[in-house]
Amino acid sequence: MNKPYNFFSGPAILPESVLQQAAEAIQNFEGTGLSILEISHRSKQFVAAMEEARSLVKQILQLDERKEVLFLQGGASMQFCMVPFNLLAQNQTAAYLDTGHWAHEAISEAARFGNTAVVASSRESNYNHIPKNWLENFDNSELAYTHITTNNTIYGNQWNSNFLNSFLQKAKGVLVADMSSDIFSRSIDYNRFDLVYAGAQKNMGPAGATLVIINKELLKSPPRNIPAMLDYSVHIAKDSMHNTPSVFAVYVSLLTLRWIAAQGLEQIEKINAQKAGLLYDAIDSSNCFEGTVNKEDRSAMNVCFKMKDSSHEAAFLKFAESNGAVGLAGHRTVGGFRASLYNAMPLSGVNHLVALMQEFENQLAQ
Ligand code: PMP
Repeated sequence: MNKPYNFFSGPAILPESVLQQAAEAIQNFEGTGLSILEISHRSKQFVAAMEEARSLVKQILQLDERKEVLFLQGGASMQFCMVPFNLLAQNQTAAYLDTGHWAHEAISEAARFGNTAVVASSRESNYNHIPKNWLENFDNSELAYTHITTNNTIYGNQWNSNFLNSFLQKAKGVLVADMSSDIFSRSIDYNRFDLVYAGAQKNMGPAGATLVIINKELLKSPPRNIPAMLDYSVHIAKDSMHNTPSVFAVYVSLLTLRWIAAQGLEQIEKINAQKAGLLYDAIDSSNCFEGTVNKEDRSAMNVCFKMKDSSHEAAFLKFAESNGAVGLAGHRTVGGFRASLYNAMPLSGVNHLVALMQEFENQLAQ
């Protein structure tokens, strides 16, 4: 059986070469004769893998020397609480942009530790855009930090690079970003953020590892007594080995990081724009499919769309699945379809999906 194209939103498609190397490492990790699944995290081979993964993140994102790179556990959801726990004192306020389901979750978690100010929200319009009017009068100089979610996986909206750059020019103070679903997908000024986090399971590796990039100067005066496992300073001091790290997830992330580094972010961004352009053009020129997000805020990673006549949606999903395209159902709270086009999705996968959409549309017209 041919492998189907995998459009799931996460855990998600990984490069074929990464899967092959991971399979080899399950038998024999770096010539040790042991499996990556059974080797000690203190072995010199794994310590070297962890170091290489951290330094590749710095290299790919061109991070300055103030930044520390951590591989933690608990998913991006753990960061929803670790960020305020480490950075938000009870008498302070943190600003949040409410641009999707996960942004909303991050706000709820932060509200447990201090005051949150929701600067803008597109919740009322089902998160079909990134709000923009607020930026003109935005002043965050007095706030503990400002938190944004650069790509909203469920609704398929993304801070486009122009608006993101305007924000970065205007914003002062500490900036935090959840980049779970678009890190390594485009070339932006990652150094402008004081803290970036991302679950591995979209553009970096399997589920189980969470990447955190943090400006260590932020941690000089912690706002409370922090348990070791939640304390960024502890993880920095122990090189992400305070406790047993997710060995396999970190190793597969390393393999993917090597794959990303070999191409460079500019090339990756170019291909991602080409893939997304192809699919959005097909949606816009179709008589039966339509996009759900305002054009200027459409995500290059998660393309959300639906059918003008929703009664055909189940049939399209079935048709796609039986023709080698899986994972296209939209999130259960949104419906319709979502095609996730992470870095590892080849152009041929998008061409295949577009051809299926056209074929289905032709069948309907007959
Ligand atoms: N933030 C974003 C943007 C996400 O897409 C997700 C998960 N899909 C999360 C946070 C939560 O991640 P996790 O399941 O790793 O906790």
